[in-house]
Amino acid sequence: MRSPQEPSAPAKGSVQEEAQVIVVGAGPAGSTAALYLARAGVDVLLLEKGGFPREKVCGDGLTPHAVYQLVKMGVDIDAPGWCRSRGMRWVCEGRQVHIDWPSVGRYPDFGLTRTRHDFDDILARNAAAAGARLRTLVKVAEPLTDRAGRITGVRAESGPDREPVEYRAPLVIAADGASARTALAMGLQRDASRPIATAARRYYRSAELSKDPYLELWADLRCSRTGRDLPGYGWIFPLGDGRVNVGLGALPHTRHGSVDLKATLDLWLSHLPGHLGLDESNADSPLRSAALPMGLNRRPQYSRGLMLVGDSAGMVSPWSGEGIAQAMEAAEVAAETVALALARPAGTRREQALRSYPTEIEQRWGRYYRAGNTAARLILGKYGYRPLLHRRIMGNAALVNTLARLLIEPGKKPSRDTTEALLHTLVRLVPGTRR
Ligand SMILES: Cc1cc2nc3c(=O)[nH]c(=O)nc-3n(C[C@H](O)[C@H](O)[C@H](O)COP(=O)(O)OP(=O)(O)OC[C@H]3O[C@@H](n4cnc5c(N)ncnc54)[C@H](O)[C@@H]3O)c2cc1C
Repeated sequence: MRSPQEPSAPAKGSVQEEAQVIVVGAGPAGSTAALYLARAGVDVLLLEKGGFPREKVCGDGLTPHAVYQLVKMGVDIDAPGWCRSRGMRWVCEGRQVHIDWPSVGRYPDFGLTRTRHDFDDILARNAAAAGARLRTLVKVAEPLTDRAGRITGVRAESGPDREPVEYRAPLVIAADGASARTALAMGLQRDASRPIATAARRYYRSAELSKDPYLELWADLRCSRTGRDLPGYGWIFPLGDGRVNVGLGALPHTRHGSVDLKATLDLWLSHLPGHLGLDESNADSPLRSAALPMGLNRRPQYSRGLMLVGDSAGMVSPWSGEGIAQAMEAAEVAAETVALALARPAGTRREQALRSYPTEIEQRWGRYYRAGNTAARLILGKYGYRPLLHRRIMGNAALVNTLARLLIEPGKKPSRDTTEALLHTLVRLVPGTRR
């Protein structure tokens, strides 16, 4: 990796495009940022290494927080292909608890599912329709920098022949996902004390489960190797098209190391009733896995012309593993910050405006992520989600409501008292938890 202080040498024979802002990656974070920038009249280039539609390993579940972001962007969620959910059904030790999505503020009271195959394509097309210049099959290789180490663009390979290309802009938004290559190349390292989960998913055909109005989550799964509680949960998410997305995610077990996701998934599915049909004969895809960078694990989220959004900044919720809504909301904040900064003259005052992005992130979500990181370290990484379903929590309406909010809406913080009451109750319950 080149040192950030070392200016980049020009690439031979490269084509050049210029813009006010470059966005690297057209996942939920990148397409959302590009859409809002274009709407604000900013000339924005959106660079994506893949071609749409394309696969992305995900649970495909969207909470009301994500639906809110979609509606704000003007995405037509009444068009065919969207599947609505009423809430979550948690399964634990033979018991089932239904938690309907709470009706909070301006949030809708329903969630959605949609495969990322379609979902990312829709968002990217919306960004392009808003005026963003979308370039697919463009793989960003490294940032271009000036003598001061400030980003001035990116060097990339374009098309099937991997033609060298340079794109120039005084501001770059890194939305390149968990690999965070752009941030790393600019010297922004991950905070290793923040949790990173891994998760795997597979599609199955099931006409019956596909129409379930609830997202189903399993809290009492066992690790295949140790027989201990899975430090995570399993899910069965209906897609409404005759298929379900089945998967599980786990933190590295704080005492027993990493989890064999495939073997643990196989073990879980082998115990499910045969009539559900979640077996090899109904599998509709291979099992695929990926990392979930959590807890705001990369800082600062703005430095030397580079802004980080979504997984590249580790914005996945340590409470739930949800990352799409967080990526989209942060992208909206980033776009607004950039548009306002560009209205100022270049120099110190513009730089001040850009530096307000990490401050805004901290104000909105700092406490939520800190409490989640604590919960991941003390509880979820040891005992998984079983303590969350303890009868003393489930029997307390205020705590259930807090739990539902923590799982869906970091932006609207529950009061300090109820969050701390939930954490306190969890910590007290843990010693009695089966291990
Ligand atoms: C198994 C699993 C299940 C999950 N389930 C859920 C769920 O149900 N709900 C939820 O909300 N979240 C879920 N998540 C988390 C969610 O997938 C991520 O948080 C979310 O995709 C983050 O969006 P993003 O735009 O930051 O990154 P990404 O979605 O990873 O998008 C990054 C984009 O950048 C592109 N890119 C990367 N490198 C380059 C490059 N060098 N040049 C150009 N383009 C590049 C990629 O091709 C991609 O399009 C899950 C994650 C996993 C692994």
